Order: sequence, then structure tokens, then C-alpha cells
Amino acid sequence: MNTELGDFFSNTFTNKPFVIAGPCSAESAEQVHDTVELLSQQNVKLVRAGIWKPRTRPNSFEGRGTVALQWLKDAGTKFNLPVAVEVATVEHVEQALRAGIDVLWIGARTTVNPFMVQEIADALRGVNIPVMVKNPINPDLELWLGSVERICKAGITQVSAIHRGFSSYENSLYRYKPNWEIPIEFKRQRPEVPMICDPSHIAGNTENIFFIAQTALDLQYDGLMIETHINPKAALSDAKQQITPHELELLLSKLMQRKSTPDDVFELTKLLQLREKIDALDKEMIDVLARRMEISRIIGSFKKENNVTILQPERWDEIIKSRTAYGTAHELHREFLLKLCNILHEESIMQQANMMNAAENPELKK
Ligand code: PEP
Ligand code: MN
Repeated sequence: MNTELGDFFSNTFTNKPFVIAGPCSAESAEQVHDTVELLSQQNVKLVRAGIWKPRTRPNSFEGRGTVALQWLKDAGTKFNLPVAVEVATVEHVEQALRAGIDVLWIGARTTVNPFMVQEIADALRGVNIPVMVKNPINPDLELWLGSVERICKAGITQVSAIHRGFSSYENSLYRYKPNWEIPIEFKRQRPEVPMICDPSHIAGNTENIFFIAQTALDLQYDGLMIETHINPKAALSDAKQQITPHELELLLSKLMQRKSTPDDVFELTKLLQLREKIDALDKEMIDVLARRMEISRIIGSFKKENNVTILQPERWDEIIKSRTAYGTAHELHREFLLKLCNILHEESIMQQANMMNAAENPELKK
């Protein structure tokens, strides 16, 4: 196997980020050939292309299918680059292996389904090919970790994760919200699994790709997967988010690879002092929260004595409005404040319910 590819999957690749690029879909032999040719002149280490496309609605372009495997393999061989495709069924796995594809990935719509992932894992038993597992479409860390575990248990030793963002019903600046806390927790639990960011699907447009890719590098991701098309406007899938190989080159040249700690001891001391301040503030915050919940319990016993309900919608509405107004005036994001109000409220309701209905509470009965 190509040594850089091997190093990446064994998490010993040092020249980060490991860049994966290529079109959303392989559309024609020429498109694949010309894209791979341009990518081979850049710092790209692996070419991606969708052969079978999972589309949300029928009657969209669903990929060229098996014939395109050869286009990709031929271009990879000619320009000396390994190639990767998405597999969603056992048949896809068999065809990709037969065509000599170098790396497989499991898409977001497959990771959600343990039956499908298990079937793919079983089809891979005894085959040592690197596999990349995209996060599930819904923000569920366990499902993502579970899919990676299924692949590892089938004996695949070279596994990486791809963070491509999460569906959300709310309006968002992103096509798929990044929910950075999920890949961060993934990395904490499985530090040996290289983490790749797919800023193209997170952004859904070309303007935000740089910001997301840079954020990923600043979170110490190991690689980037960026959709690249020779003529994005004419792309048959994901046209809005694909960039040209030339734009990819510019983007990669602008990305900053920062160090994990400052070289200078004096600078490092400054950082440690700031962290001490954060530690002290976190402790203070927990003390304040404990005091707040103590009051919630007192309110709980007051409501019990006076036979009053826990939730008063007007009061809740007023809390949301006043806290977000106060917080946004102090440079906090509205979305963060809303989440904070919600978790405080949830805990406060639990504390009051424990107090008011102790005898019935399943948590207290345990
Ligand atoms: C893709 O990579 O083109 C793709 C279909 O991605 P996802 O599974 O993340 O939607
Ligand atoms: Mn795509």
C-alpha cells in the first residue's frame, strides 16, 4: 500500500492535514480523468468519488454505478493516487473490491443503520482495506462509535472517522450543523482513530468551506475531505458546494497548520495562567449552579404546599427573552444562551419534580 495512506490510517502521518479530494459523483471518464490529473499536481493524498449516490428524493442523479469504478481506478493508476468510493450494500463492497478500489467509505445515511453497517462489516471480514466511517445524519455519537466498532470487530485495522455534520430541522447557516462537541467527544473516546472533516457537506456552499476547514485544523483534526469538480456549476450532484481543483489549491495554501503547544516556555506559562483562570471560573460557575438548584428545590416545596404546577409558560417565556437579551449584550451567542436556558430549565424541573412528587419519582425509587 501507498505509505502515506498507510501512515494516515495508522495515525502516524505527520504532514497534516491529509487531504482527500474529488467530485461528489463520478460523472464521466473524462471528468474523472481531468479532475484526478489536476488533483495529482497538488497536495492531495487520496481521491474520492461517489459511484452510487444516496439521494434524498427519487429522480435525482443516482450515480453512474459500476461502470464508473473503472474510470476512477484507471485515473488513480495513471496519476499514481489511491482512490475511495462510498459503499452502502454488500454488492457495492464486492464490486469495489473487484475493481481494486483502495479505500471504502460508509456514508451518513448508512451509518444510521446498524443492520447495514453489520452487513458491510461481515462482507469485509478477511479483507484488509482502509474504511472511513461518516457520522450518522442525526447527532448521535453512540451510533457513530457503534459503526466504527462493527468495522473494527470485522478485523479491519485501518479505520478513520469523517465528520460531515448533522441534520437539523432548525434554520442554520450550515447545510449540516457541525455540532463540534460530537467529533471532539469521539476523539476523546477513540484517540487512535484519525478524524477527517468534510467541510463541503457541512457548509453546503463554497463560501464557508475555508472557515470550517480551518476550525477543524484548529481542533487538531487529521485530515480534510473536500469535494472538487472541474466544472462545479455543471455538477450532477452537490453543485453548490463543489470547488475547482484550482480553488482547492488556493484554499489549501491559505490554511494554517497551528502547533498544539507554544514553543516558547514564557508563552506557555501565559497559556497555563489563563487556563488556571478558566478552572477557577468553572468552579465558581458550578457553585452558582448548585445555589440556583437549591433555590429550585425550595420553590418546589413552596409549589407543593400551595398546590401550584411546576411549569408556568409566561415565566419560562420571560426567562428566555431576558436571559438571551442580557447574554447577547455580553458577546454570547443567542443559540448558546438558548441551549443554556434549556439545560438549566430541564435540571430545575427535575429538582422541583423530585421535591414535589418524591414518592412517585422513578429516579428516587431506584
Ligand atoms: C458524499 O460524500 O458525497 C455523500 C453522499 O456524503 P454523506 O454520506 O455525508 O451525505
Ligand atoms: Mn456530495
